[in-house]
Amino acid sequence: MARLTLKWGAKIIQNEGFVNINLKVFVPENLSYFCGMKNVAVIGGGTMGNGIAHVFAQSGYSVTLIDIKQEMLEKAIATITKNMDRMIAKEKITAEQKDQALANIQTTTDLKSGVVSADLVVEAATENVEIKLQLFRNIDEFAPKNCVLASNTSSISITKIASVTSRPEKVIGMHFMNPVPVMKLVEVIEGFKTDKQVTADIMELSKKLGKIPALTQDYPGFIANRILMPMINEAIISLHEGVAGVTEIDTIMKLGMAHPMGPLQLADFIGLDVCLAILNVLYDGLGNTKYAPCPLLVNMVTSGDLGVKSGRGFYDYGHGTKELIVAPNFQ
Ligand code: NAD
Repeated sequence: MARLTLKWGAKIIQNEGFVNINLKVFVPENLSYFCGMKNVAVIGGGTMGNGIAHVFAQSGYSVTLIDIKQEMLEKAIATITKNMDRMIAKEKITAEQKDQALANIQTTTDLKSGVVSADLVVEAATENVEIKLQLFRNIDEFAPKNCVLASNTSSISITKIASVTSRPEKVIGMHFMNPVPVMKLVEVIEGFKTDKQVTADIMELSKKLGKIPALTQDYPGFIANRILMPMINEAIISLHEGVAGVTEIDTIMKLGMAHPMGPLQLADFIGLDVCLAILNVLYDGLGNTKYAPCPLLVNMVTSGDLGVKSGRGFYDYGHGTKELIVAPNFQ
């Protein structure tokens, strides 16, 4: 509880007197929630969007999940349900909390009706600069003027996204990690014109979701991917050059560096198309060849091997994600 003391005077006309009232007001910690951030629109129902909708709904926010594809919305709700069932089995939530959280989520393929009463929009659509710029032009047109616009982009400039809106001071990066319900970090990215109060509100909101925010400035890849992606790229280059096989590379990094997952398995989880897009942003934005994506990664994405989401990447996911089976072309 934060305590705020207000002093104000009031003239009581009947008594023709003047009294000073010393009023103590108790402000709940989740002031922003009560002040306005209640309705949240999440754009994109893919890997990240469904997780973001999950955590907001579980924290009591009213969520509208928006995607251009109806089947992605259906898949998102099925994934959220499955993940919540897993949490019930681990006694992290109750069946009633699951029902309440699911009741907090509605879905639509219509952007305008989805954002028209939003207090906060969290965009988690495909990592493509043209898609995001067009989306933010449209969101800016349809969302209320005081609505904060956040992007979950892994690497695209928040300042650039903000520049196509009429409210750059209300645009911010809110970079959740995958899988969203499990991972604690939210990398909060301040654009060039982001209002400090908006930053403070988003940091506070992240804590309300049970996350730990860390603030970065708006430069290509921010911090998380500027450091992670060169490691993943180097693992792919090592595989491409025949230095070691898929299992060996991941085993060395898992056991040697105490990473929970090897870099190739992690790349499959992130999505190889997403990894490629981020490396291209680093390469273009920082102008250094050390970020140039490995040609093997380019070939895999071009041929549709995108990792877990397409069923095959460095590993084959025909039997699910529990058992690690190296993809036939790398055996
Ligand atoms: P994804 O490919 O799994 O899902 C993207 C979704 O966006 C799809 O369902 C697609 O139909 C939808 N979409 C595309 N254009 C749209 C539009 N105009 N309006 C509404 N929906 C649209 O991608 P993802 O992995 O969930 O990534 C989403 C964002 O999150 C990207 O910016 C990515 O960089 C970022 N991100 C991804 C990860 C990760 O591990 N995958 C981690 C952190 C951040």
